[in-house]
Amino acid sequence: MARAKFTTTFLDKTPMSGGLASFRFAKPRGFEYVAGQWFVLSIPSPTGTLSKPFTYSSSPTEPFLMMTTRLSGSDYKNALDALQPGTEVEMDGPGGRFTLDPARERVAFLAGGVGVTPIRSMLRFLADAPAATTPRLVAFYGNLDETHIPFAEEFVEFEQKLGLRTVHVLTQPGEAWTGHKGFITADVIKAELDDPTAWTFYTSGPPPMIEAMKKVLEICGVPAGNQIFEYFGAPGK
Ligand SMILES: Cc1cc2nc3c(=O)[nH]c(=O)nc-3n(C[C@H](O)[C@H](O)[C@H](O)COP(=O)(O)OP(=O)(O)OC[C@H]3O[C@@H](n4cnc5c(N)ncnc54)[C@H](O)[C@@H]3O)c2cc1C
Repeated sequence: MARAKFTTTFLDKTPMSGGLASFRFAKPRGFEYVAGQWFVLSIPSPTGTLSKPFTYSSSPTEPFLMMTTRLSGSDYKNALDALQPGTEVEMDGPGGRFTLDPARERVAFLAGGVGVTPIRSMLRFLADAPAATTPRLVAFYGNLDETHIPFAEEFVEFEQKLGLRTVHVLTQPGEAWTGHKGFITADVIKAELDDPTAWTFYTSGPPPMIEAMKKVLEICGVPAGNQIFEYFGAPGK
């Protein structure tokens, strides 16, 4: 679908752990997007309209449009947090090419924290609308601790429905944690995948995360053609 501006309404907000929240908006009849794409959300604020790009954390199979973000205390996020159900907002989208290539047989996701939004969208889409063949799926998912994993319960559902293997990597896990500790590194990937070069890696998140993962993939010898990125940094990229 071609990118376009339209007005829609804010529906509701779901607070999540770690100061995150998901915001749902009415999906206009006939509106189409592909899991993994983004849009620009313009909202009213005391100082005028404010705009920022966000990935749809919703899937095209869901009857609403959703985005998920950290309520950071910025002017934009304060205005977002203050939205009342029924308030009109403007969306400009969909944009972006960070979408699943059906030709890829082995797909590995690299995500940290809120960078998981396009991956939740893709996995929800695959779970809701199963294709004739689902790729082999692994998600390397970096977070603070066991209680700060966005969409943790849904990932369990994705494991059951899609055969997804989630490799959690926690920087400050509890004492009982037996999984990977620290950040997602080449050692973690090599420990989990026999041949990383045979996988296509989808990486999304803020620029520091992307830069770190580029180095990790280089160490793993993953060909450039098997590396697909979505920067949460430069608008409109
Ligand atoms: C293609 C694309 C997709 C994206 N998808 C997502 C997504 O799905 N989810 C998502 O969260 N982001 C996404 N982003 C990034 C998003 O557009 C914002 O840049 C990001 O959420 C940070 O916005 P912010 O208003 O919190 O912080 P900014 O205003 O950009 O400031 C950066 C940091 O400074 C601090 N700060 C700023 N102002 C204040 C203040 N007044 N008081 C206290 N602290 C302050 C906050 O800690 C904040 O995190 C995406 C970006 C792109 C380009």
